[in-house]
Amino acid sequence: MAKKKASDFRYNTGETRVPWAAVGENYNADDLMSVVEFLMQGSGAAYDKAIAEVREKVNALSKVSAPPMKLSLDTKVAQVEEQTDAYLGTTGSTFVTNCTAGFEIAYRYCGIGPGDEVIIPAITFIATMAYPLAVGAKVVFCDVDPRTLNLDPKDFERKITPRTKMVVPVDIGGYQCDWDEIMRIAKAHNITVLDDAAHGFGAEYKGKKLGTIADFTAFSMHEVKNITSFGEGGILTTNIDSFRPYMKRCRFFGTTFEKRIKNWLYDVELMPGKYEPFVALNSSTTEIQAIGLMNQLSRVDAIIAERAANAKYLTERFAENDAIIPQLLGDDEIKPTFHLYQLQIDPAKAGGDIQDLKKKLEVKGVTNIPHFGPLYRFSLIQQLGYDVDAIAASCPNTEEVFYKRFTHLPIYDLKREQLEYMADAILESVSEMQAGK
Ligand SMILES: *Cc1c(COP(=O)(O)O)cnc(C)c1O
Repeated sequence: MAKKKASDFRYNTGETRVPWAAVGENYNADDLMSVVEFLMQGSGAAYDKAIAEVREKVNALSKVSAPPMKLSLDTKVAQVEEQTDAYLGTTGSTFVTNCTAGFEIAYRYCGIGPGDEVIIPAITFIATMAYPLAVGAKVVFCDVDPRTLNLDPKDFERKITPRTKMVVPVDIGGYQCDWDEIMRIAKAHNITVLDDAAHGFGAEYKGKKLGTIADFTAFSMHEVKNITSFGEGGILTTNIDSFRPYMKRCRFFGTTFEKRIKNWLYDVELMPGKYEPFVALNSSTTEIQAIGLMNQLSRVDAIIAERAANAKYLTERFAENDAIIPQLLGDDEIKPTFHLYQLQIDPAKAGGDIQDLKKKLEVKGVTNIPHFGPLYRFSLIQQLGYDVDAIAASCPNTEEVFYKRFTHLPIYDLKREQLEYMADAILESVSEMQAGK
């Protein structure tokens, strides 16, 4: 096996007689084959033959190749960040372990802790509010717009107090929030805006990509999102010019190699926060994660286009029954990512509510995704001493839409006949409900 290059970001030793490579184990042909067999699974004679051929080739390759210089935070991570910046129109985007780790940097920038309030939409995923809950800050649940399920700017404004430091709108399903209103209100109250765009990579709002609008935006590259970096990953962007140079340092303890302390190769500094400096933690990503993301990034527009076409098909089919309230398709100003298809029904017209429809869909073998609901219903909210009934009473739209009106449908990588079956099954089920069946 060829020699690993004696270089690391902390130990740039150049040509040495005793190489740096001695500190870690390299990957070999067996390791790589395990990954190939994991990513490309199968069985049967044809599969076994193909795998045996690949194994032979990989073994040959291993004899004439060298291992990579680094596995964590190196040129591939930098390259995928450049690609992201070019795509989003940002600078300084930072590839982190996952979207939640991106949130954490933004929350720490604002020094969120006991006594502070963070406003989040009531309907989202637990990740949105985990950090403020973990550090003893108060999470304030904002009601949602019943049509989009996104944070309702009017309720946001009502729920602001002198202790409100942040608001975290979510572009649920990849459909954009009312960004003009949210940013206007937040600015007037000196509230930092973190966009939970876990579903929104590539979405456009009035000619600008998400990632360029809020103070911070975090995207998820978890395996269930539109694109992934081998199962986990996140991108954080900021619009705060003074903080942008620190973003990548916040991913690795605030280290700097431009400054060295005595007998060390680097220094570690506090990172500048909005109110006070803070200690940064570690949310480093690997070169493999970066490679996993690169090709997917170059396909993202095609992925969104396929999703948009499927969403358009369903929305057009549902026009024949006015009890069905279909996914909004966007327009010149709003270009969603169609991460999920939001299906709503009007219980007054449908002769039943979404729970009735969900039961019928289950019988017909149509998957739905009841994954995003009122977070204040989780046990931990009550366990932390929140008054759940009072919160529910302050979020009437949330209660109505979650229990009575909406679910999400998958819309990607479906065959035409699967899409048609899904549309038929939903139309048929709603007709049955209307007929009292
Ligand atoms: C997936 C998801 C997250 C968290 O993303 P991770 O990359 O898994 O940390 C946050 N918010 C919403 C709405 C999500 O769906």
